[in-house]
Amino acid sequence: MFNMKVGNSTIHPTKIICLGRNYLDHIQETKAPIPTEPVFFAKTLNTLVTNNDPIIYPKLLYENPNYNRVDHEVELAFIIFQPCKNISAVKAYDYIRGYTIFLDITARKMQISDRNIKLPWYRSKNFDSFSAIGPEIVSCHEIENPHNLKIQLKVNGELRQFSNTKHMLFKIPEILEYLSKFITLKAGDIVATGTPSGVSPIKPGDIIEASIEKIGTIKHEVILESD
Ligand code: MG
Repeated sequence: MFNMKVGNSTIHPTKIICLGRNYLDHIQETKAPIPTEPVFFAKTLNTLVTNNDPIIYPKLLYENPNYNRVDHEVELAFIIFQPCKNISAVKAYDYIRGYTIFLDITARKMQISDRNIKLPWYRSKNFDSFSAIGPEIVSCHEIENPHNLKIQLKVNGELRQFSNTKHMLFKIPEILEYLSKFITLKAGDIVATGTPSGVSPIKPGDIIEASIEKIGTIKHEVILESD
């Protein structure tokens, strides 16, 4: 069983599901169409790191001018509390253990070039250390409304992303109802709800600080993959 310590909690995720294109301002900056139903994709468990772990910039990307852009995306994630399949939106919060910060690190040039030839986002999203979570999982009792939280990201102290979770196109109950039609979510599974605008490149040596109101801040140094 896969173990992950997040602050004072230990979770056993079996999968990471992410929403794409869930904030209007981010959809506009990527010139993507506005979705009429949630766009989701999976990340693999090898990507997971937690607060203060380094984010590894892959040499494969760094040394190739066709691929040398890696972006940060700060997101609110929720952690599944109990198995759920075919649940209705009104019951959604019974299935959520709590909330955490999620960094969806993305090999942007690779993602765009793959997309242009109709390949999936799989490669560009799943390098080691490309999903950071933490610093804690904050329970649903402490965050009664996850759709009114300030969310921000700084690189080397400079504000790059700043928004509020109220701007999500698809809200958490709707997301869970939709997802659970397709797959069974299990306790510990991680669902990330998409990023607002302001995504921008990171490089080795950068310090990323991602914060969400009522949850805290995660801090990560970007390092170049060693030989
Ligand atoms: Mg994302």
